[in-house]
Amino acid sequence: MSGVHLVWFKRDLRVHDHAPLLAAVASGAPVIPLYIFEPGYWAEPELSRRQFDFLMDSLRELDAALQARGSRLMVRTGEVTEVFSALHGKHGLDAIHAHEEVGLQWALGRDRAVYRWARNAGVSMREQPALPPGRESWSVRWDRRMAEPRGKAPEQIRSPALTAPDWPLPKDFGLGADDCPARQPGGRSAGVDCLRAFLEARGPSYAEGLAHPKAGAELSSRLSAHLTFGTLSLREAWQAARRTLSLAAEQGDAAFAASMEAFLASLKLHGQFVQMLQEQTTLDSRNLQPAHDGLRPRAEPSDPRLEAWIEGRTGFPFLDACMRSLKATGWLNFQTRAMVMGFVSHHLWLDWRLPAERIAARFTDFDPAIHYAQARIQAAATGVDAPRIFNPVKQSREQDPDGALIREWVPELARLPDAFLHAPWDAPPEFLSAAGVVLGQTYPMRIVDHMAAANEARTRIAAVRRSHAPAAAADDFKARLAGRPRRATPRRNPPKTVVQQLDLDFGLTQAS
Ligand SMILES: Cc1cc2nc3c(=O)[nH]c(=O)nc-3n(C[C@H](O)[C@H](O)[C@H](O)COP(=O)(O)OP(=O)(O)OC[C@H]3O[C@@H](n4cnc5c(N)ncnc54)[C@H](O)[C@@H]3O)c2cc1C
Repeated sequence: MSGVHLVWFKRDLRVHDHAPLLAAVASGAPVIPLYIFEPGYWAEPELSRRQFDFLMDSLRELDAALQARGSRLMVRTGEVTEVFSALHGKHGLDAIHAHEEVGLQWALGRDRAVYRWARNAGVSMREQPALPPGRESWSVRWDRRMAEPRGKAPEQIRSPALTAPDWPLPKDFGLGADDCPARQPGGRSAGVDCLRAFLEARGPSYAEGLAHPKAGAELSSRLSAHLTFGTLSLREAWQAARRTLSLAAEQGDAAFAASMEAFLASLKLHGQFVQMLQEQTTLDSRNLQPAHDGLRPRAEPSDPRLEAWIEGRTGFPFLDACMRSLKATGWLNFQTRAMVMGFVSHHLWLDWRLPAERIAARFTDFDPAIHYAQARIQAAATGVDAPRIFNPVKQSREQDPDGALIREWVPELARLPDAFLHAPWDAPPEFLSAAGVVLGQTYPMRIVDHMAAANEARTRIAAVRRSHAPAAAADDFKARLAGRPRRATPRRNPPKTVVQQLDLDFGLTQAS
């Protein structure tokens, strides 16, 4: 009845490069690998069925990887402290190992309760930061952390006899079907396949892909959900990309190398946003510039504009295509995420918080640190720079010139000629009727005059900017963040064979 070490998995669902698991195994004590389904967590508004399903894929593979090492994943449902109490009573815990979770208020409260419980129970709580904490020399420490050797997966894990109660179902947390037929599959093997395919095939065109909503789904890394759930560590992705970059540079493939530089910059930005949430724990609920408080009305949950936006019925074909595709796939590229958040904030003039919460649930890769920081930036609520208000029609013409995305997701407009597809309200009646389109009936009339609304938004925001010096926090924010990842020079040459020489040493065998 003594000496058991528990590994508490949260958003780090792998046995590779997992420092807490290695520390528990190194203790020589029997190890309990544990995942807890927390009803309070799944009741948070940003959480959804698509994320749950991705999680289940990942847990199944984690369990298989643990079984291959002589252990298994213990799954429990309930309040964390109650689960720990029960396990402590049964097995006698000496220590709990975990990665520190950087989350919203709910997670912070939960972690405080866990620390209190551990102190009272005499159990050693050993949390390790997944990324460099604190601001001092952050960038240097990030580079150093990413370059450190990855932790090898333990070969054997000795565990006490573990019972395996049934795993919970989505309905246990009130999560109904959410109509996401093209959700990315979760799990370590899908993550490794995704990284490998990115570096070996899609990576050379990454820079171009960043700007294309349709092609971008194939050309960008698509690693976000894997990094969010930790089926891959940021360090694994970083090191694989560094190796690819070196090979590309050796072979003189400057465009491919630049693509890898841009990808590495994206990973670093991920780390920076996590560090920012660690410091600004109210990032999801406060304007960085307080003068923005009350600037826009808070949206009511039943506001029809909010509903039209989230369901892709605004009457702006490209924007609607993006929102409908998000609903069915769980993913959008950076550019279109920025556009849709900007639209709801500037054109519909709604406070960013409720829309950000609603759309978060549509992202399989929802990460509170990145999502809320970006939602605030797109709403210009940081008070840092003048707002960049994307014109949804211009974006449509630039990003979807042949209307492929629109025709796929807004089929009711498919027969409109390209010239009118981006702004159907400008189409002459004969073209509309030839295409079978009746605005306001078969497809919505645009919800707002976007040019007038953008001008109005600019004027209102400028007035606030004139009347208030930027908050100190805003200056600080500007100093630390470059905004979005640097774009690499688009490549013109076809990919070279450089990537075939890559050895992505992930130990991904059946037993991994
Ligand atoms: C309003 C808004 C909300 C967003 N919400 C999320 C979110 O919940 N989860 C999420 O992972 N990303 C979010 N992003 C950032 C970005 O859009 C996604 O990371 C990207 O589209 C995911 O696709 P990918 O993995 O192919 O990205 P890639 O371009 O291949 O990038 C590789 C990785 O770098 C990181 N990354 C990329 N862009 C950014 C960025 N701008 N800021 C911080 N990290 C970045 C992600 O981990 C991503 O997986 C958001 C952006 C906006 C504008």
